[in-house]
Amino acid sequence: MSSNLEDLYREVILDHYRSPRNRGELPVPPAHRSEGFNPLCGDEVTVFLDVDPDTAIVRDIKIQGQGCSISQASTSMMSAAVKGQTVDEARRLIRAFKALMSIHETRLEGEGDGSDLAADLEGVRLGDLEALQGVVKFPVRIKCATLSWNTLQQGLDEIAAAGE
Ligand code: ZN
Repeated sequence: MSSNLEDLYREVILDHYRSPRNRGELPVPPAHRSEGFNPLCGDEVTVFLDVDPDTAIVRDIKIQGQGCSISQASTSMMSAAVKGQTVDEARRLIRAFKALMSIHETRLEGEGDGSDLAADLEGVRLGDLEALQGVVKFPVRIKCATLSWNTLQQGLDEIAAAGE
């Protein structure tokens, strides 16, 4: 990665860290609340999700929590990425982002030819989220970056289970 690209990525991450999107809370119910915690770093996140039961669109999402710059930036970027998307699209983003974060682990283990990753990333535009790919160089930080995504997934799963 060129240093110019790293500078650009650093700017994107810092922007989300300094000006986090979608901070706040939503009334529960009708919104759903899910919480995540990363004991390795002390990061905490609470995700409030308002999913339209008829259209399955994430009408609104609000975020509370505290933690390191990577976790805060990733949480802000996640909220901006999934707001207004359908639940299916949000799940595809979750899969694609986690695939992006697992590149490093896959390489370390010497397994796989990346085809699963390609499948997960196919047709998904991660955009600014790719700025976070730099954290895979620091495996201990991957859980910081994926915390809010796992918490989002937990929330979507709980909403789906409640709707059955
Ligand atoms: Zn962290």
